[in-house]
Amino acid sequence: MAAMTHVFPTYDRFGFEPVSGQGVTITDETGKQYLDFTSGIGVCNLGYQHPAVTQAVSDQLAKMWHISNLYNNHLQESVAHLLVGDSDRLAFFANSGTEANEAALKLARKATGRSQIVSFNHSFHGRTYGSMSMTGNLHIKEGFGPLVPDMVFETLNDPAAFKAVGPQTAAVIVEVIQGEGGVILADRQWLLDLQDKAHQVGALLIIDEVQTGIGRTGTRFAFEGVGLDPDIYTSAKGLANGLPVGAMIGKSALKSAFGPGSHGSTFAGNPLTMAAAQAVLTTLTPAFLAEVTQKADQIWPVLASFEDLPAVTAVTGRGLMIGIHLAATVPVSEVISTLHEKGLLTLSAVGNTLRLLPPLVMSSADLQRGLSLIESVLKAV
Ligand SMILES: *Cc1c(COP(=O)(O)O)cnc(C)c1O
Repeated sequence: MAAMTHVFPTYDRFGFEPVSGQGVTITDETGKQYLDFTSGIGVCNLGYQHPAVTQAVSDQLAKMWHISNLYNNHLQESVAHLLVGDSDRLAFFANSGTEANEAALKLARKATGRSQIVSFNHSFHGRTYGSMSMTGNLHIKEGFGPLVPDMVFETLNDPAAFKAVGPQTAAVIVEVIQGEGGVILADRQWLLDLQDKAHQVGALLIIDEVQTGIGRTGTRFAFEGVGLDPDIYTSAKGLANGLPVGAMIGKSALKSAFGPGSHGSTFAGNPLTMAAAQAVLTTLTPAFLAEVTQKADQIWPVLASFEDLPAVTAVTGRGLMIGIHLAATVPVSEVISTLHEKGLLTLSAVGNTLRLLPPLVMSSADLQRGLSLIESVLKAV
C-alpha cells in the first residue's frame, strides 16, 4: 500500500497492512502470514474470528446495534453482572481505556470530595486530559499543558510513596503490571501495603486493569492474583475482543456519587459491543483461565533461559504478558522488523523492551514456535 498521506502522523506505522485474521494467524495485503504475538495491543485475547464472539456480534447486528442509554439494556446488565460476579460492585460502561479511567477519576473526586490523585512514574492511563494527567510517562504529556491539577507521582515499589497518601488524597491509581511502561511488576506486598495506607486515610484504590485484565495474567483481573480488593478498577482492551468497550467497576458504596446525570456517554454500552463483551466474559471460564496458566507455566522456563543471552538483560511479566528487556546495543525496533520478516508480530514498550501479548487461545506449540523465532533472532544480533 502507498504511504498514508491524509491522516495525522500520530502513529509510527510499519509499512505493511494486515488485512485478515483467523485464530492466531494474520495475513497481510501481499498474502504473507504472521503468527500474532500482539493480540492488537492486548485486545484480541481470543484471537481473530473467535466463533462465540463472531456469532454473538452477527446475531446482535441483525437485531439492533445502537440504542441510547435512555432505555433499559439487558445486555449491559448481563455484562455488568459477569464483571462484578457476586461482589458488591457496580459497573459504568465507556468506549475505551482512557474513558474508563476518566470515569474512575471523576467518581473518586466526587465520592471523596478530595482532589489529589497519587500515581506512579512510568505509568500509562490514557490520552484524554484526566487520564493523561494521571500518566507518569512524561513524553505522553509533553506540550499539552496545563494539565489537570493535583496529580502526584511516586516511585513504584518504593515504600516512601506511602507518605504522599494522606487525608487530601482522593485516590491512588496503579497498574499491577505497568504495560506500556515496560512490563514492570508491582510487588505483591507493596501493593497490599499501598491499599492499607489508602484505606487508613479514606482514599480510594484504583487499579488500572486495561492491559492486565481479561485473563492476560492467568486470572480474570491481575488484582485477583495479588489478593487486592480495589475500590475501583478499570477494564478495556480485551473486554470485547476488538469492539470498543471500556468499563469502570466500583464498590456499591460509591453509588450516590454517580447518580442520574452525573456522567454518561452516547455510544457506551450499545447492544453490539455488549454482545461481544458478554461472549468474551462467558468464554473466560475458570477452565479457560487454568489453561492459560498451564500454557504460561510451560513457556516461562524458556523465557527465563533467554536471560542467558547477551542481547537480553531481563525477562519480566506474568501469565501471557511478557517483557524481554534488551541490551542497549540491540534496538527493539530492529528486532521487531527482523521478526516481521520471519513472520512473527511483536510489540515494544518503554525501555527497549520487546513486549509479547499473544492471544490467550494460542496453543503451546505455537507459543513455543514464536519463542524459538525470537531466540534465533536474539542469538544472531
Ligand atoms: C491501553 C491502556 C490505556 C488506554 O486505553 P485506550 O483504550 O487506548 O484509551 C489505559 N491504561 C492502560 C494500563 C493501558 O494499557
